[in-house]
Amino acid sequence: MGEFDFIARLAGRVPARADVPLGIGDDAALLAIEPGCQQVVAVDTLVAGVHFPLDAEPADVGHKLAAVNLSDLAAMGAEPRHALLALTLPSLDPGWVDPFLNGLLALLAAHQVMLVGGDTTRGPATLTLTLIGSVPAGQALRRAGASAGDLVCVSGSLGDAAAALALRGTPRPEDGEARLVRERLDQRLARPTPRVALGLALRGLGSACIDVSDGLYADLGHIARASGLAAVVDPARLPASRALTTVIGDPARRQRLQGGGDDYELCFTLPRDREAALAELARKAHVPLTVIGEMGPGEGVHRLEPDGSLRPAGRGWDHFA
Ligand code: ADP
Ligand code: MG
Repeated sequence: MGEFDFIARLAGRVPARADVPLGIGDDAALLAIEPGCQQVVAVDTLVAGVHFPLDAEPADVGHKLAAVNLSDLAAMGAEPRHALLALTLPSLDPGWVDPFLNGLLALLAAHQVMLVGGDTTRGPATLTLTLIGSVPAGQALRRAGASAGDLVCVSGSLGDAAAALALRGTPRPEDGEARLVRERLDQRLARPTPRVALGLALRGLGSACIDVSDGLYADLGHIARASGLAAVVDPARLPASRALTTVIGDPARRQRLQGGGDDYELCFTLPRDREAALAELARKAHVPLTVIGEMGPGEGVHRLEPDGSLRPAGRGWDHFA
């Protein structure tokens, strides 16, 4: 397939929409801007062999590319709207590109995001998605904004993706139950669920927010630094899925919960007097929420030890460390 056939095919898959006067096909797209809103823009790249294995299911790769970007907009409390796709691939093999687009466009459509343009070039597989969203002016959630005494909360469960990554390459269990557990973990790594509804519901409630992509302590550390505070976490409260609890025991499980990346849950702070809102938030966002600690004076992330003392927490993933 040539570049222009590919672009024509792609354009044919994207329905027109009133807020996009001009989409794929011109030198640039035109987007209508809602009055009273700010645009929220994020970009993320997946590199073959670095962020996903070369033999990964192309539909999973498409899903993940959309998910990691949607997760960044979720963390800002933004409503995702438009996307730009920069594709670098060794060839436009329909056997790979079609299922990749299926995975990508399905998740974008599920969140009412329209693909409005992009770029297609030949080279080592590198997939970049830019997402544009919208938030009422001044209402975006940020890493800065937490106050001393705020509760630290996290959505869903942690460590599943890291556990799946650690198990990659080991034989798949034969037994039905064990196999199901393994598949559940693999799904969390390959097809993460961005917490878009939670981000929206947190507007006006949460004081700071970040998505957990590099590991809880690393990401919470960003909230602490940006807010000029310390975070104290009780590791015993970190939410583990049943699948994670089934496949690994402590201390390995603790490690995955505290430092595992790629979960794409939201970690946010909540003023203590709004704790009663948590149950309603969880119901609205269709995801469990857990209080795992609190913000206080000082700096860095600290772990509460069983004897009540505090220890500095380790760091998460850093591409250049
Ligand atoms: P130009 O050379 O002017 O940059 P292109 O030939 O690269 O234009 O692209 C033609 C049209 O197709 C543009 O509207 C562009 O946004 C769109 N397009 C190209 N590649 C992609 C892609 N991978 N995904 C979405 N739209 C794309
Ligand atoms: Mg041009």
